[in-house]
Amino acid sequence: MKYEGMVIRPPSEADSLLLQITYGCSHNQCTFCGTYPDKPFRTRPFEEIQADIEEVKKYTRGQEVRRIFLCDGDALILSTKKLLRILKVLNESWPDLQRVAIYANARDIIKKSESELKELAGQKLTLAYLGLESGNDQILKRVKKGATAEEMVTAVQKAQTGGIKMSVIGLLGLGGPELTEEHARETARAVSAMKPRYFSLLTLMLVPGTPLAESAAKGEFTVLEPRAMVEEMRSMVAQIDTHNTIFRTNHASNYAPIGGTLNKDKQRILKEIDGYLQGQHGFRPEAFRGL
Ligand code: SF4
Repeated sequence: MKYEGMVIRPPSEADSLLLQITYGCSHNQCTFCGTYPDKPFRTRPFEEIQADIEEVKKYTRGQEVRRIFLCDGDALILSTKKLLRILKVLNESWPDLQRVAIYANARDIIKKSESELKELAGQKLTLAYLGLESGNDQILKRVKKGATAEEMVTAVQKAQTGGIKMSVIGLLGLGGPELTEEHARETARAVSAMKPRYFSLLTLMLVPGTPLAESAAKGEFTVLEPRAMVEEMRSMVAQIDTHNTIFRTNHASNYAPIGGTLNKDKQRILKEIDGYLQGQHGFRPEAFRGL
């Protein structure tokens, strides 16, 4: 297997085979993101992808690969034709494959027709991760997310209608202290409209060299204190109205790891958050936080 540069995956893809089908992120402008600074976006030749698959087949010697995560940043940008060609090889190689997952941007999804999305889901591309970050357009514009909240809501709804489950990610602290209320309220509003299968939260950590870290160094942006991050999470969860959405904060950046299903477990989740705020459980120490 040949990997180029830093390769990231969501925590829930820890047991998946990671297969790079693109390099970097086609957007690559979010001010908080330090993932692909030196990796310009490009697609990977099919022959190279195929060679990687053949190598894994030799290595696993007939053992089944059940889950595959297609990297890098927004691999769903590939045309449906190219994606179907890759999925065909994956399905032929491992007939018991359970699911293929991918990172996606709103425009990747919006550009595809509902029948294209259904075709991809039919070939086991059944889970896509989308970084909503915030439901507040002022924050999204400020961090150069490249999509509005409304576009992301439309994208998530469209993918789910097409049979692709969506895992949506929010970023606590992205609005700083002055927009914390708006960030909580409007992210909750967007998630309520999306009703994604999964919603997870990360907590902002400044990555050296990113524009957001530079703004913070100049005093133009303030990172919330740990307690304010957890209060923001409480406010967000309290305002979400969804159905059967698996909620988790198991990412290493979070101060308070919590999980459950919204709305079903909302009261229990809020009680657990209150436990952190009232000092019954300690926040994750800074030394144990990470991206
Ligand atoms: S879309 Fe995702 S990977 Fe690309 S720059 Fe933004 S946060 Fe980073």
